[in-house]
Amino acid sequence: MELIRAPRVTLLARPQFQEPAHLPVQWKGEATDGERLAEFAGRLCYMSQHNPAGRTTAEYLRNILSQGHGSVFEHTTYVVLIEGISRSCSHELVRHRAGWGYSQLSQRYVDEAHAAFVMPPAIQGEAELEAAWARQVEAAQAAYVAAVEGLMARYAWVEDKIHRRKLAREAARSVLPNATEVKIVCSANVRAWRTMLELRLGEGAELEIRRMAVACLRVLQQEAPALFADFEIYPASDGSEAGRVGFHKV
Ligand SMILES: Cc1cc2nc3c(=O)[nH]c(=O)nc-3n(C[C@H](O)[C@H](O)[C@H](O)COP(=O)(O)OP(=O)(O)OC[C@H]3O[C@@H](n4cnc5c(N)ncnc54)[C@H](O)[C@@H]3O)c2cc1C
Repeated sequence: MELIRAPRVTLLARPQFQEPAHLPVQWKGEATDGERLAEFAGRLCYMSQHNPAGRTTAEYLRNILSQGHGSVFEHTTYVVLIEGISRSCSHELVRHRAGWGYSQLSQRYVDEAHAAFVMPPAIQGEAELEAAWARQVEAAQAAYVAAVEGLMARYAWVEDKIHRRKLAREAARSVLPNATEVKIVCSANVRAWRTMLELRLGEGAELEIRRMAVACLRVLQQEAPALFADFEIYPASDGSEAGRVGFHKV
């Protein structure tokens, strides 16, 4: 049985900005396509492509953030693959609706007999708790395997094997714990990313989703620093990491 102790976040896709030849911007400073796309959208609102204040992209976007001109950030979308999070964590994640798209591993189609389980951060590091927790998820997985076998026999009359398996797995998954690992592809525009991160990095957020938000933020800050520069990761009072934002919900 595989136990997972930390999430893994992989960037899958970023925007490709194509500057229109008839509306060129006087860019200043280095920037990624996603950052330039946001700057382009902001400058279009005021037809300030000539960059009268001589701002770099980072300075320009910071000013847009400070004004709360949020729609500018809806054009730039980043797609990530998140692995090593629990079903309960993904259930919290998918509550974020505006500007988000999800594709999550299906427990109806995928055999969970060899699924991994995500150990909650609160349990990690305490040997007795870890051992008891591991026994419980192992027992749940054994119950799942037994339920699939029983249900496959019950539905033996269903000729289509794929449909029979689906009938068995969709019922048997009910005994799997919230800790079962899921993999999920998430698409979100920068405004939506920022709202989710602000809520889930806070010390009031549940520990596992907070840890996931920290991992997402690190990927996004590396990819597009000017769009996430006002977020700061800090050590929380409980010893884990949390984050705060400079410009609240644009
Ligand atoms: C610490 C914490 C504890 C929580 N506890 C619980 C809990 O006990 N039970 C529970 O059910 N949920 C809980 N949640 C989830 C929470 O209620 C939200 O569903 C979740 O954080 C998504 O936030 P959101 O709706 O702002 O995000 P999104 O859906 O991404 O929406 C972003 C923003 O768009 C606007 N918006 C989106 N949809 C609408 C709409 N239909 N009408 C008007 N404006 C809209 C709002 O301004 C919203 O903030 C908790 C969240 C946190 C962070």
